[in-house]
Amino acid sequence: MMNLYRLIYSSYAKPDLGYHDLKDIMEKSERNNQSDGITGLLCYGDSIFLQILEGDSCGALRYRKIVSKTYHRIALDTRHHTPELIECIPIESRLFGIWSMKAVNFSNLNSQEVRNLILKYSTSTTLQPHTMTSQQCLNLMQALVTVYDKAASF
Ligand code: FAD
Repeated sequence: MMNLYRLIYSSYAKPDLGYHDLKDIMEKSERNNQSDGITGLLCYGDSIFLQILEGDSCGALRYRKIVSKTYHRIALDTRHHTPELIECIPIESRLFGIWSMKAVNFSNLNSQEVRNLILKYSTSTTLQPHTMTSQQCLNLMQALVTVYDKAASF
C-alpha cells in the first residue's frame, strides 16, 4: 500500500544567498527528488523559503517516510537557517505531482500581482509564513504557481 505525505516548512535564507546557490539547490532538488519520488514546490522571496514536499513511503524506505528523510537533509543545509515545520500530514493525492521540484522566485520581481496574493492569504504584503496557517501557505503556493506557470526556474 502506498501512503502519501505532504510536508510544508519555511526557513530563512542565509544573508548572502545568491543566484548560484538557488541554481544549485534546484539542480540537486530535481535530481534527488526525481529518484526519491518526491514532488513539490519551492518558493523564494523576501529572504524566506517556503517549500512543499510530497512523497510516499514505499520502496527501500518503507519504514521511514521519505519526505521526513528529505526534510531532515534539507534542514542541515547551511544556505538557510531556523527551519519551521508547518505541516506533515497524510494526503489523498499530490497537488504538485508533475514537478520533482518547481521553483517560484519572486525576490527580484516587484509584482503587484504577487504582493496582492501574499496579502490575500496573510496579514502582510511580504512573505511571513510563520504568521500563516498551513492552509494559507498551501493556498498561497497554489496561487503563486498560476502566476509563475510559464516562468523558468531560478
Ligand atoms: P551533496 O551535493 O554532495 O552535498 C553534501 C552536503 O553538503 C549536504 O549536506 C549539503 O547540504 C551540503 N552542501 C552542498 N552544497 C552546499 C553549499 N553550496 N552550501 C552549503 N552546504 C552545501 N535537496 C533535495 O534533494 N530536495 C529538495 O527538495 C531540496 N530543497 C531544498 C530547499 C532549500 C531551501 C535548501 C536550502 C536546500 C534544498 N535542498 C534540497 C538541497 C539539500 O539541502 C542538499 O544540499 C542536497 O539534497 C544534497 O545533495 P547531495 O545528496 O547530492 O549532496
